[in-house]
Amino acid sequence: SLIAGRVLSVHGLQSRVLADDGVLYECAVRQLLKSLSTDQRHVVVAGDRVVIRADADSTSMIERIEPRSSELSRTSKGRQHVIVANCDYLLIVASAAQPGLKPNLIDRFLLTAEQFGIRPIICINKVDLVDAVDLQPIVGVYAQLGYRVLLTSAETGQGIEYLRALVHDSQTVVAGQSGVGKSSLLNALEPELGLRVGKVSQENDKGKHTTTAAQLIPLQFGGFVVDTPGIRQFQLWDIAANEVSGLMRDLRSYVDACRFPDCMHINEHDCAVKDAVADGRIDARRYDAYCQIVEDLAS
Ligand code: GDP
Ligand code: ZN
Repeated sequence: SLIAGRVLSVHGLQSRVLADDGVLYECAVRQLLKSLSTDQRHVVVAGDRVVIRADADSTSMIERIEPRSSELSRTSKGRQHVIVANCDYLLIVASAAQPGLKPNLIDRFLLTAEQFGIRPIICINKVDLVDAVDLQPIVGVYAQLGYRVLLTSAETGQGIEYLRALVHDSQTVVAGQSGVGKSSLLNALEPELGLRVGKVSQENDKGKHTTTAAQLIPLQFGGFVVDTPGIRQFQLWDIAANEVSGLMRDLRSYVDACRFPDCMHINEHDCAVKDAVADGRIDARRYDAYCQIVEDLAS
């Protein structure tokens, strides 16, 4: 019989599929599967919506992949690998203190969200350690750009109910620097998860490509989180320096007014972006972050 479900993880030619009726199936995967609506062929990845042929007597098979609403991918050795499909949200976790807030890091994760068309949620955790008033300027900048900003504390429970309501019934990929409280937040959302807290794992290893196999964790209240060490800190994959301004909401609206069509908005004359920074229409710190990102990408 044919059953619809969602791929939780893929290991080689085996995959775990959570069927919509709540039953977990171990399925065999054919190398490439035809998409439902197009002639494209896909490798099955975590997050894929699929139709499986369930077989009580032998191996269940994935028969079809549904079209994807989003893909998080990375180019490696000249080929693009999709890491996880159908993510609705990128939960960017930062901490107000210990470690201190790093807005420039938030900006990098935002670029990734914009690049892949995944809605970001900016979550500033550990607000119990600071005076909320001190966060207002930075929250204001992001809110004005139309981003959703949440103040949470895994310690006191502040904002957890709201976060749960937001990610409910969605597929959310979690990102953020080590130690900001990602595991603590997920545990606060769902105590049954029992993720280990305070463990500094291999995730510090920035350039590593090996640990990127994604895994979906079903949530009791509906939905999934994608929390895999290798993609917790992913950032700026496959972005070229000249694409950055187009991915920043505040810079984007000015770039067409620059004198040079290939303006990088750093050293050029008659630059509409720099004019906007000079008279405060673009936040100066966001522009600094832009310059640093471009410099990093160019080196
Ligand atoms: P991760 O590396 O991002 O998964 O961070 P962890 O969840 O492991 O948390 C790192 C440390 O921060 C642990 O010692 C937590 O107890 C602590 N922590 C996490 N969230 C909060 C919070 O909201 N407030 C405070 N004061 N500490 C927190
Ligand atoms: Zn310019």
